[in-house]
Amino acid sequence: MLRSALAHWGYEVVLAENGEQAWKILAEPDPPPMAILDWVMPHLTGPEVCRRVRETHREPYTYILLLTSKNTKGETVEGLEAGADDYIVKPFDQHELQVRLRAGKRIIDLQMDLLQAREELRERANKDLLTMLPNRPAIASALEQEIARCHRDHRTVGVILLDIDHFKKINDTYGHFAGDAVLRETAARLRSNMRPYDRVGRYGGEEFLVVLPNCDLEQAKNQAERMRQKLHATTMLVDGAELRVSASFGVTVSDAAERDQDVFVRVADEALYLAKGSGRNCVQILTLGESAQKRG
Ligand code: GH3
Ligand code: MG
Ligand code: MG
Repeated sequence: MLRSALAHWGYEVVLAENGEQAWKILAEPDPPPMAILDWVMPHLTGPEVCRRVRETHREPYTYILLLTSKNTKGETVEGLEAGADDYIVKPFDQHELQVRLRAGKRIIDLQMDLLQAREELRERANKDLLTMLPNRPAIASALEQEIARCHRDHRTVGVILLDIDHFKKINDTYGHFAGDAVLRETAARLRSNMRPYDRVGRYGGEEFLVVLPNCDLEQAKNQAERMRQKLHATTMLVDGAELRVSASFGVTVSDAAERDQDVFVRVADEALYLAKGSGRNCVQILTLGESAQKRG
């Protein structure tokens, strides 16, 4: 009876034959956002299902309406204490149920909006709004995760730090907006030149960090070389001017002896410094060991 009424009001209905089944359905991924639970059910009671759902603290929230014939104050309190949002006493009036469900749906819709807004905020907090690439904290955390994962799998992560050459001159000659356009186009070229699981982020003003999971030094070097060529091979049309942009690349690879991702960025930065020193528009590699040796 409930099913046909709900279907008639436009709800999509999933039926559970008993409390155990109801709990199973609500514990699955992507469960129904709203549950109408009878108080008395075989195996698990309505309040017990309620308690279990609340213990999981899952998102999005499950709105729970208890159906009860026990119209005593104590039991109403018990139902609400178990985590029910509302209750309705049997035999219930169809119109009342319809209106209460509508109230529940409002709560669910509000909560979905909130979750979506939070998700958008989180995304924005991780993004560089000029290039739309991951920003520095986001790409640093991606590197940290990949290093941890690759350590477990006895693999290595390639790390590339690149810096646009004479970028200050581009700004000085063509203006800051042209400089911004060059940054955007650089980001687009870098991104279009990677495997799907590689990551690139804006690490600083005109510096980009590339993370290459399951990659050795040789492969990382080749990747940097491909990116260098892609950047330099064709001009960028910025504000009516044809600019040929280049960047210098420092490359290193993770090492089982070191877990701190900052160390690898530092070594990549040393390699980048070498690339700047050897005429720019080139790729230089450096391992953790070589870097330690140089420091004596
Ligand atoms: P090098 O080849 O040694 O890297 O020289 P460079 O001129 O690229 O290096 P420098 O560090 O002197 O200049 C970097 C410039 O990048 C300085 C700064 O004004 C500019 N910059 C940083 N962030 C932005 C940005 O978001 N937009 C623009 N247009 N310029 C930026
Ligand atoms: Mg530069
Ligand atoms: Mg720089």
